[in-house]
Amino acid sequence: MNGPIAVYIDHFKGQALAASWEALAAGRRLADEAGTRLQALIFGAKVSELAEQAIQYGADEVYTAESDSLRDYSPEPFASLAGGLVGEAAAVFFPTTTRGREIAAMTAIDLNSGVITDVTALQLDGDRVVAEKPVYAGKAVVRVVCRTDPQILTLRSRAFPKGEPDPNRQGSILPVSVSPDGADGLSSHQGYAESGGGVSLADANIIVSGGRGVANNPNLVPPDSMDEKETEIWRAHQGYKLVGDLAEVLGGAVGASRAAVDAGYIPYAHQVGQTGKVVSPDLYIAAGISGAIQHLAGMRTSKVIVAINKDPEAPIFKYARFGVVGDLYDILPALTDAFRQRLGG
Ligand code: FAD
Repeated sequence: MNGPIAVYIDHFKGQALAASWEALAAGRRLADEAGTRLQALIFGAKVSELAEQAIQYGADEVYTAESDSLRDYSPEPFASLAGGLVGEAAAVFFPTTTRGREIAAMTAIDLNSGVITDVTALQLDGDRVVAEKPVYAGKAVVRVVCRTDPQILTLRSRAFPKGEPDPNRQGSILPVSVSPDGADGLSSHQGYAESGGGVSLADANIIVSGGRGVANNPNLVPPDSMDEKETEIWRAHQGYKLVGDLAEVLGGAVGASRAAVDAGYIPYAHQVGQTGKVVSPDLYIAAGISGAIQHLAGMRTSKVIVAINKDPEAPIFKYARFGVVGDLYDILPALTDAFRQRLGG
């Protein structure tokens, strides 16, 4: 390879997203194979600790742009910094996070290069990185090569192993100066609000998801008089309570199908699928979800899929390692109790 491999470290207030270390580990493997250096790019207000961590996770050199004006992510200045640093790189990896995707696209435009998004496997062929990514809602996998330099790729979260930090690893930290007006973006941050807490879907090892079936328990009678729609939503909340209880005992996150989101059972932030989040946890439990192709597009790369459904013909069972034919109102509490006893939660 005619240059180093650079990896953008996405973080929130100095806490790296796990996908950043996964991308760095993938970069380390390819850099070793190609006999080249691995660089990390870190921008923010206080990033010295993060820079040390990047070395422990495998970087040879860490470019840090540190300034109060970079406290909040803004696409233009971050992409402009990245573009200015990776001109000599043979390949640049970004985690496929919302910010990573945004900067990758802008950097590719700035450097007049191609970008391959949502990569799930990588290998070297001479000086080219051959990337694999799912297409057609996960029905096929395509192999893609970027013909221009630097080769820019975004790596899917949880598709690559993270690697272990080595506290004795040595590397250099190279501070980059940020001009006072260099951090001006076209948008400015007005503040942050909690989105509901809990484990984030993207980082979760375990996801328990509920679909339209969560509202299907005619035996549940609401305490007050409610119309039909209110009753449906109230029942859905009882169903999601069971989904949430299991997720909590397992230390996982709560997911949902689009049918459940569209019906108003749960906010969009929980939606998994083609038009929601793409996840790849170690364990995905789908309760009351039929297994439509658009839902599968967001979770079929999960390591183990467990389906709970009343209908033995539900398509989800074709993709599940374990299937339980039954009512989620019976199965979920039984699983929660069993795991609670075993895990002591
Ligand atoms: P259903 O298909 O209605 O299935 C409900 C299941 O629950 C059934 O299998 C039933 O047997 C079971 N059930 C019912 N009651 C119980 C019970 N008490 N216990 C156990 N099982 C029970 N969908 C997504 O999920 N994510 C997306 O991102 C997405 N994007 C889309 C994009 C486009 C362009 C389009 C056209 C569609 C998209 N969809 C998406 C919608 C998708 O096609 C399906 O409509 C949706 O996934 C169905 O959700 P569901 O499985 O919860 O509901």
